[in-house]
Amino acid sequence: MAKIQMKTPLVEMDGDEMTRILWQIIKEELLLPYIDLKTEYYDLGLEYRNETNDQVTVDSAEATKKYGVAVKCATITPNAARMTEYKLKEMWKSPNGTIRAALDGTVFRAPIQVKGIEPCVKNWKKPITLARHAYGDVYKNTEIKVPGKGKAELVFTGEDGNQIREVIHNFDGPGIIQGIHNTDKSITSFARACFSYALDTKQDLWFATKDTISKKYDHNFKDIFQDIYEKEYKDKFEAAGLEYFYTLIDDAVARVMKTEGGFIWACKNYDGDVMSDMVSSACGSLAMMTSVLVSPDGVYEYEAAHGTVQRHYYKYQKGEETSTNSVATIFAWTGALRKRGELDGLPELADFADKLEKATLQTIEEGKMTKDLALITSLKNVTVLNSHNFIKAIRETLETLL
Ligand code: NAP
Ligand code: MG
Repeated sequence: MAKIQMKTPLVEMDGDEMTRILWQIIKEELLLPYIDLKTEYYDLGLEYRNETNDQVTVDSAEATKKYGVAVKCATITPNAARMTEYKLKEMWKSPNGTIRAALDGTVFRAPIQVKGIEPCVKNWKKPITLARHAYGDVYKNTEIKVPGKGKAELVFTGEDGNQIREVIHNFDGPGIIQGIHNTDKSITSFARACFSYALDTKQDLWFATKDTISKKYDHNFKDIFQDIYEKEYKDKFEAAGLEYFYTLIDDAVARVMKTEGGFIWACKNYDGDVMSDMVSSACGSLAMMTSVLVSPDGVYEYEAAHGTVQRHYYKYQKGEETSTNSVATIFAWTGALRKRGELDGLPELADFADKLEKATLQTIEEGKMTKDLALITSLKNVTVLNSHNFIKAIRETLETLL
């Protein structure tokens, strides 16, 4: 078979530890034999980030804006222990944070469903995609531990010096206060990313806040979504037979449990944090989840939702056998290749991505899987494979599909 040709390069962001090892094997076994792979390579491994004073991360984000599609390996976000381990010049910021800030994106995560790994919620037939707003609210808060009796106020001082002032509470004794914020700009780009992604993936969009209680803060989210929907997306949604549905967050949670899935659930930052962990854990594993960052102007960055699987890497370094699940990393590649195929009018590239996903799922359904899945599967007679042999087994299935 002649190798599939590409037109535009993918931005390839290499990463750290066990996922860096998987990255190489995936390329060698599942991509390079079939595709004349065109990538612009950025090494986001911690050593090279340190060497370039993290410039490589900034450059990779710029390249993503230029080419439109990136695929990213999991990377270490340094902490004190990593400073010593990697002899770092500085405690570099989270690459995901840097890339997110540059692309102004929203993160979409959906479970990868496969026979034998059934969700705990038995009526969930199709994946539920979480769209998490990744800016502000409690994640950028200011807090005070109130020492005793006194008045707490909320004050905004405009550039002209004019003030808006509200009493929060007259304290009789000790307590706590918290200030949070968001911006119309960020909420607007969050809304656009959600509406565009819903159209792109042909799914209904749900959004929920607590606007009955938070009549200004949450109401602002609701109003911005409604406004953008009416002005920019209503016609397109109607033409595609899709629905935008707003409700209260507690109503949404109750309804989600009763649906069969197959829609996008847009969440404010905190709701998204909590609900995506609930959905992923109900569906089996973080290694069985796709994750894509979508910017409002249609730039895509595909990655795995899990980290660098440090514990497995240390075993690997000692020459011990590992059984690390590569599904999320494979799906990051297939997501990016399919998107590149769609944008460049290369149906054979998108078709290859479909087949590689199919081969991955079929391999698991045939009972060949890594240890994390073997522990939770309902399938009988399972073969537990090591990291490399699982990818080789996928290649064998892929050969039968091509
Ligand atoms: P992690 O890499 O997600 O791993 C946590 C545990 O989850 C593992 O020890 C393993 O459990 C299980 N696990 C995760 N992915 C797996 C896979 N593909 N196959 C099998 N088991 C898997 O999280 P972490 O250990 O907290 O973080 C390690 C590093 O990753 C940190 O330096 C962190 O900064 C970074 N990180 C990066 C990203 C990203 O780039 N997107 C996200 C999160 C964390 P067992 O050990 O029980 O087998
Ligand atoms: Mg969380």
